[in-house]
Amino acid sequence: MRSFTYTGLPARVLFGFGTIAALPEEMKRLGCRRALLLSTPGQETKLRDLASRTSAQVAGIFPAAVMHTPVEVSERAVATAGEVGADCIVALGGGSAIGLGKAIALRTDLPQICIPTTYAGSEMTPILGETAADIKTTQRSEKVLPETVIYDVDLTLALPPAVSAASGMNAIAHAAEALYAQDRNPVISLMAEEGARALAHALPRIVENGGNASARADALYGAWLCGTCLGAVGMALHHKLCHVLGGTFNLPHAETHSVVLPHAVAYNAPAAPEAMTTLARALGGSDPARSLFDLARRLGVPRALKDLGMPQDGIDKACEQALKNPYWNPRPLERDGIRALIARAWAGEAPTI
Ligand code: NAD
Repeated sequence: MRSFTYTGLPARVLFGFGTIAALPEEMKRLGCRRALLLSTPGQETKLRDLASRTSAQVAGIFPAAVMHTPVEVSERAVATAGEVGADCIVALGGGSAIGLGKAIALRTDLPQICIPTTYAGSEMTPILGETAADIKTTQRSEKVLPETVIYDVDLTLALPPAVSAASGMNAIAHAAEALYAQDRNPVISLMAEEGARALAHALPRIVENGGNASARADALYGAWLCGTCLGAVGMALHHKLCHVLGGTFNLPHAETHSVVLPHAVAYNAPAAPEAMTTLARALGGSDPARSLFDLARRLGVPRALKDLGMPQDGIDKACEQALKNPYWNPRPLERDGIRALIARAWAGEAPTI
C-alpha cells in the first residue's frame, strides 16, 4: 500500500425519510434561533412550506439563489441576513442554494444547515465557486463547510428524473476522479467505489419510476459519499474541463458533467489502472469509460456538448483554456489528445483512449 494522508472534515449528517422534521432540534444544537432560509426561485413553495412548519425560528426567506453563485446575489443575501437578524443559514435545494449559503457563511461566519435535494454534493465540501463579471473562481475554506447536513429522501422524490439522472452522473464524476486523485487515500477510495456503485444502480430505477423510494434512498446515499470524496481529495482533468466548458459557454452544470465524464475517464484510463479496476467493479463491465457512456444512454441524459449549446468553433478555445493552469492529472495533458477528447464529446461519439 502507498503512503497517504487522510484529513477528515467535520460534518454532522442526518439521513433518512422525513428527517426535515429534525430542523428545529438541529438549530437548537447549534445554539441558533433565527434562520434565513435559502432556495432557488423554483423551490420557493417548498421553502415557504418549511418556513410555516418551523415558523418560530425563521427570521426570513431568500428564494433567489441562482447557478454559479453570482456575487451580487450573495451580497443581497448577506444584506438580508443582516436586516432580519439571522443567526444561521438553512439552504434547501441543490448546489445553487447551497452555494449561496456558503457565500454568506464566507462573509459572515454564520453556521449553515444544508438540506440537499439534488445529488451535486456541494454540502459535503469546503469549496465555493463564485462568479463575478462572468468569471468563475473557486476557493477552498473551512469557513464554508456546512455544520449540519439533513438528507431527507422524501424531498428528492419530486426531482424530475432527467434532472436526477444528470445530477447523479455529476456525483459519479466526483467518485471517478477521487479514485485516481494525487492525494487519494484508502478511506476515500472506499467511499468512492460505494458511492459510484449506489448511484449507477439507483439511477436507472429512478428514470423508470421517479417515485421509487428505495432507489431514491440509494441515490442520495451515493450522493453523500461522492460529495465527501469531492471535499476530501483533489479533482483532475474531468472537473477542469467541466469548469472551463461551463464558464466559457455557459453550459448547464450537471449535464456538462454527464457528457464529459466517459471521455475524461477514457483519457486517464491508461495512467490509472487501479482506479479503473475499482470503477469497473462499481459500474459493472470491464471498460468504465464505455460503461459510463452506456449508462448515460440508458438514462437518456445528453451525450453531446453540441446538444447543450456549445458551438463547434469553441472546441479549440476550450482546449486552450483546459491546458491553461491545469489541475494535477494522472496522465499528462497532451494538446492533440485533449482536443480530440473535446471534439468527441462535442459530437456525442463513443469514448476512446
Ligand atoms: P441546482 O441547484 O441549480 O438545481 C437544478 C434545478 O433543480 C434548479 O432549477 C432547482 O430549483 C431544481 N431542483 C432542485 N431540487 C429539486 C427538487 N427536489 N425537486 C424539483 N426541482 C428541484 O443544480 P445542481 O446541479 O444541484 O448544482 C449546480 C451548482 O452547484 C453549480 O453552480 C455548481 O458549480 C455548484 N456545485 C458546487 C459544488 C461545490 O463543492 N462547491 C459541488 C457541486 C456543485
